[in-house]
Amino acid sequence: MRIVLLGPPGAGKGTQARRLSESTGMKHLSTGDMLRGEVASGSELGLLAKEFMDRGDLVPDPNVISMIRNHIGDPSGVLLDGFPRTLIQAMALDTELKFANVPIDRVIHLSVDIDELVKRLSGRALCGDCQTPYNLESDPPSKTGICDRCGGPVAVRNDDKPEAVANRMKVYQELTAPVLDYYRSHGNVAEIVATGSPDEVFEKLSQAIRSGKSGVMAN
Ligand code: ADP
Ligand code: ZN
Repeated sequence: MRIVLLGPPGAGKGTQARRLSESTGMKHLSTGDMLRGEVASGSELGLLAKEFMDRGDLVPDPNVISMIRNHIGDPSGVLLDGFPRTLIQAMALDTELKFANVPIDRVIHLSVDIDELVKRLSGRALCGDCQTPYNLESDPPSKTGICDRCGGPVAVRNDDKPEAVANRMKVYQELTAPVLDYYRSHGNVAEIVATGSPDEVFEKLSQAIRSGKSGVMAN
């Protein structure tokens, strides 16, 4: 099964995809996590990506496409989180899927209104090791800077700083919203209003996956 999770920064794609991956055994493919891994390891791709990411801009399509290419056909199924983010990426994904002879089974759009998104992102901090999200105002770790779950370092991402957040929203509108229209014109996008608690959203998401009708084929 291949599932694409679409939605603006802060919609909760990462949190939901991690839970879904735990409950279904599907592989969680997050291009954001993969890129942060490259940055942390100081690889050539990481050095290139860091500049774009810190500003809240997208990493160039060819780099991102070649990063995910080998994972798309994973036999345990794949949850795509943060990819595709441009029309070029969406078309490259279609080509890869056609090649691997697997369809996209579901495209799920998590929507949250813009004021709520900005609020969520402004207090957001993440564990650098296990990626557990915290909110420094409403849901801080019990020991400052230390992850409750794994003891890793909890920090605010560079791109969760205000200027970068504003740019990420703009980039989403300009480059990623057309991807949603692209999938809508192809078939069924499941719409989920992602304003409730993580548990409520997870429940809706699981239901959308169970009850989906025909798959959205990769052409
Ligand atoms: P969010 O959805 O909250 O913005 P992500 O972790 O998905 O966070 O992405 C963080 C950053 O990583 C993006 O702002 C962008 O710079 C880069 N990135 C992630 N996925 C892609 C992609 N598919 N194409 C280009 N850049 C990407
Ligand atoms: Zn952790």
